[in-house]
Amino acid sequence: MVQIHVIVIGVDMNKMKITKDNFDPKKHVAEFKRTCNQCKKIWHSLANREKKIKDNINVNNWGVIGNCCGDKGAAYQAKRNVEANQTELDKIKKCPKCSSADYKEEPLYYEKKL
Ligand SMILES: [Zn+2]
Repeated sequence: MVQIHVIVIGVDMNKMKITKDNFDPKKHVAEFKRTCNQCKKIWHSLANREKKIKDNINVNNWGVIGNCCGDKGAAYQAKRNVEANQTELDKIKKCPKCSSADYKEEPLYYEKKL
């Protein structure tokens, strides 16, 4: 009976890999790698930034609704903010080269550099 021991080298490398499941916003950075299906341009977008813009849209949407019968100026300003953020979001979600919204997306995770 011969026992064969297999020593796997490089297991530690896999342990280091950051995935969606062990993602920690305090330690890691998430971004989207997008590849345009039309012109093959590759661009990156920080997940944090997109989240901030989306949150901004939500907050201001509440401003629009909440002020519907009272402060018209504030409601107007909130509406303007929603539009500005929406434009920003649309810009991020389009190819910077050919403006196509036809792209594939791949999440990337990094260790934060301290
Ligand atoms: Zn493109």
